[in-house]
Amino acid sequence: ALKAGIVGLPNVGKSTLFNAITQAGAESANYPFCTIDPNVGVVEVPDERLDKLTELVQPNKTVPTAFEFVDIAGLVRGASKGEGLGNKFLAHIREVDAIVHVVRCFEDENVTHVDGKVNPISDIETINLELILADLESVEKRIERSRKNIKGGDKKYAQEVELLERIKESLYNDKPVRSVELSDEERIIIRDLHLLTLKPVLYAANVSEDEVASAEDNPYVQKVREFAAAENAEVVPISAKVEAEIAELEGEDKAMFLEELGLEESGLNRLIKAAYKLLGLYTYFTAGVQEVRAWTIRRGTKAPGAAGVIHTDFERGFIRAEVVAYADLVAAGSMNGAKERGQLRLEGKEYLVQDGDVMHFRFNV
Ligand code: GDP
Repeated sequence: ALKAGIVGLPNVGKSTLFNAITQAGAESANYPFCTIDPNVGVVEVPDERLDKLTELVQPNKTVPTAFEFVDIAGLVRGASKGEGLGNKFLAHIREVDAIVHVVRCFEDENVTHVDGKVNPISDIETINLELILADLESVEKRIERSRKNIKGGDKKYAQEVELLERIKESLYNDKPVRSVELSDEERIIIRDLHLLTLKPVLYAANVSEDEVASAEDNPYVQKVREFAAAENAEVVPISAKVEAEIAELEGEDKAMFLEELGLEESGLNRLIKAAYKLLGLYTYFTAGVQEVRAWTIRRGTKAPGAAGVIHTDFERGFIRAEVVAYADLVAAGSMNGAKERGQLRLEGKEYLVQDGDVMHFRFNV
């Protein structure tokens, strides 16, 4: 499953947020493929389309798609030099698909800030610097190796060194690799370096409990927004403390509490949706009377690959898929209605699955 890692300086609210995540956590029986690890929280991805399909099909059970958050605690200044949990910490970041960087935007005299005062930009820069230093090391090593290969006369390596030098230059200027313009071809060249600052980032701006409804007025949040815009990153304001409280409630109580706070939905839901979007993920649906369910695929997945998310047998024995677009199904009101309108398509092995496709797979066992 795809994972987002939660990072941030000490005392910014990471554990509080992570506890809210595990508290709100998904029914694990539905997600046997997810990791069982105290540092991993499985969350369900909220999706209004799934509610609508449930209304249409009236299945016995509805299962949202899930997503994992990994708690990566222990980053301190000097991590790239092996301070604190240093290298172990960086290795954990290498394994995630996206980074949720928690920054402190709340004032509270009772909570010490590692640097003595609240300053989200300097916090971000502290962590980014460690990641940048780690990337510099990877890039420099590779440049050295590729240089040797140029001497062997292979033109490919000259091109590679040129690209790596450009990336190095940007890292020297404190710019993460995600802010460098790269062609698809260039991305492939550097893929196996697993650069940390190439990963998509979302800043979770942790505001105090009395600012949840007016987070955008918080000057720290505004600064984080400006900073994020310059490096192609996203921002989600959230109050970790409030999320921890929300996560303990259910149904009516939860709805009432959110209303009191002046919120339409929990910050956690916004965070999950933003992380999902950040990863460029698509959702497709299966809709039977037994179960209506959402599944996650990467953009660009073909029909057999999508079937494989359900079961490897579905992929191996794939014959074809019956597909109807979500919007067409809803407009037609039923599967049969969609069929009569000619909107139920038969697709083969090369079909690129679209976000919102409702699919039924035919396969050999
Ligand atoms: P971590 O070190 O980043 O994991 O931070 P914690 O989640 O342990 O939080 C550090 C302290 O800040 C704890 O005492 C939390 O209760 C407090 N804290 C976290 N979020 C908020 C918040 O939104 N408002 C206030 N006032 N305190 C918070």
